[in-house]
Amino acid sequence: MHEYLHAFLDIFYCRSCLHCNRNLNNSYELYICDVCKKKIRYIHHPYCLRCGAVLGPHTNSLAKEGCTACKGKYLPFNTLTPVTYYDGVMKTLIHKFKYARQKFLFSLLHDILLTHENLNEIVPNVDVIVPVPLHWLKKMHRGFNQSELLSRGIQRHFSKPLSTNNLCRIKNTASQTHLSKGQRQANIHNAFFVNHPQSFKGKKILLVDDVLTTGVTASECSKKLKEAGAKSVHLLILASAKHPGQLCRF
Ligand SMILES: [Zn+2]
Ligand SMILES: [Zn+2]
Repeated sequence: MHEYLHAFLDIFYCRSCLHCNRNLNNSYELYICDVCKKKIRYIHHPYCLRCGAVLGPHTNSLAKEGCTACKGKYLPFNTLTPVTYYDGVMKTLIHKFKYARQKFLFSLLHDILLTHENLNEIVPNVDVIVPVPLHWLKKMHRGFNQSELLSRGIQRHFSKPLSTNNLCRIKNTASQTHLSKGQRQANIHNAFFVNHPQSFKGKKILLVDDVLTTGVTASECSKKLKEAGAKSVHLLILASAKHPGQLCRF
């Protein structure tokens, strides 16, 4: 159906790639062209299952205690799964999705998220999916919470419960984009709150966020979930802005 619809629309509208502006002539090219699609940089094994750092080809990435970079260090979450790098095409798509409020891009980003080889091992073993929340004012302004939309896609695909109201953002922090790590930490302190800790007690939680920059936000959420009694927190990130090897320096 999609195929016919796009072929029809192509007659009247000139569709172009959101990243490189090349004309989209094939009905199966949705939003971005094939060349750009192939440019998306996925993070494949081997990477550290504990901190998400990209490792060398002969490193044991399955070690529970982590890699050489995170071994012995405190991390508020139990595992971190980054799906792609936050650069090039992914940066364009996420920017348009979030800041230009092109909500329809959710389907493409959701498909990208679901391609990750590890998802089938992680998601069936968790009890509940929790998106990193937005403050209600920001959500009202944007019209949606991007992490919640991604979480809903995972919920549908894996038939797992979703919790969107228990972990709340109670501080409407300014944009963190241009802040240093220290400033971000001060900014995010006590920004989150769990309404009913009992609902998370003993639960294995999949915490979903769209972008990981310094890791400060995801770490703060993980801490709150652990304080509420969560058994484990597994972080799933659509796009990681961290350079390989720096992911565990929280
Ligand atoms: Zn393109
Ligand atoms: Zn590690």
